[in-house]
Amino acid sequence: MMAPSGPSSVKRRCRRCLYWIPVLFISIIVCWSYYAYVIQLCIVSMDNIGEKVLCLIAYHFFVLLFVWSYWKTIFTLPMNPTKEFHLSYADKELIEREPRGESQQDVLRRLAKDLPVYTRTMSGAIRYCDRCQLVKPDRCHHCSVCDKCILKMDHHCPWVNNCVGFSNYKFFLLFLAYSLLYCLFIVATDLQYFIKFWTNGLPDTQAKFHIMFLFFAAAMFSVSLSSLFGYHCWLVCKNRSTLEAFRSPVFRHGTDKNGFSLGFSKNLRQVFGDEKKYWLLPIFTSLGDGCSFPTCLVNQDPEQASTPSGTNAAAKSADNHQFPAKPLRESQSHLLTDSQSWTESSCNEEKGKLGKMPDIIYRVVLSCRKHYIFDAHIHILKCHKTVLL
Ligand SMILES: [Zn+2]
Ligand SMILES: [Zn+2]
Repeated sequence: MMAPSGPSSVKRRCRRCLYWIPVLFISIIVCWSYYAYVIQLCIVSMDNIGEKVLCLIAYHFFVLLFVWSYWKTIFTLPMNPTKEFHLSYADKELIEREPRGESQQDVLRRLAKDLPVYTRTMSGAIRYCDRCQLVKPDRCHHCSVCDKCILKMDHHCPWVNNCVGFSNYKFFLLFLAYSLLYCLFIVATDLQYFIKFWTNGLPDTQAKFHIMFLFFAAAMFSVSLSSLFGYHCWLVCKNRSTLEAFRSPVFRHGTDKNGFSLGFSKNLRQVFGDEKKYWLLPIFTSLGDGCSFPTCLVNQDPEQASTPSGTNAAAKSADNHQFPAKPLRESQSHLLTDSQSWTESSCNEEKGKLGKMPDIIYRVVLSCRKHYIFDAHIHILKCHKTVLL
């Protein structure tokens, strides 16, 4: 198949090149800051050899982590919905033939019934992307710049010329953290030389101008980065994407801004993973598959017909669409269940906790529990037998 040519494809290519300008701008600033700090400040201006070595070692540590996380944020491809969310050829034809509205929704409901999809549009319809021709997984959005559906889309970031989403959100957070640390480190170590510049304590060379501009640039970026980093820390604690912070996700029972929140610790682990030793490294450790996310609201959903709580007002007021319970993936069950909590809590608390779980996990917990009790019985019998013998 030949590549499309013509004015529109040339325009598209030009636009793609222009998108790299902010990345180029940041790269030039980083390269200049390296030259200004290492050559002009450390090597030329610092007299104390101990200070010189210490600053050079610490600087290279920060710059390495900063550039590594920036690189990973830029070049990690955003993840798109898996093939089970895509429409088959026959379904695409059916959707095109069906007029928009309720009949199209009937087709989509049939397609979505076996998918782990819990969120809806504002009008309560199945979320469907016309452009990619797929049922949108929860937290997935279509990016107009990338022209693709992006899993757990946070936002399209021009400074990395990439979509920030499930595949690179951890890298983006680390990029913000390390760029902030990088700037703060420069501000802290450059401060005394910056003061010397204004008190005429520096020799009259070009180094003094690099030292002054370096301080200004680092201080300016520190202010903007700290606000952005603080905002994203808050989003991680609340388990919200930037898009969800602006528009709350809609579930069957209505909008819920905390729909995906599992509590501080589990929200943190969903992005950074279970192993703390990898938290600060730009290595992918986020939990889940990006297509489905645990939510404590699942059993409020009438689709989960056999919920253990059964007393939910939202479930009672549900409409008539009945779907089978959808399986949750291992990662989700892992995040939702807490084996210690139910073994330690009292009977009533336990019942309440189990009541909040989705049906499938409730059954898994019960079956584990049965085995545990069964094993305990065998153990007691064995002990008895030993005593009797
Ligand atoms: Zn799309
Ligand atoms: Zn994008």
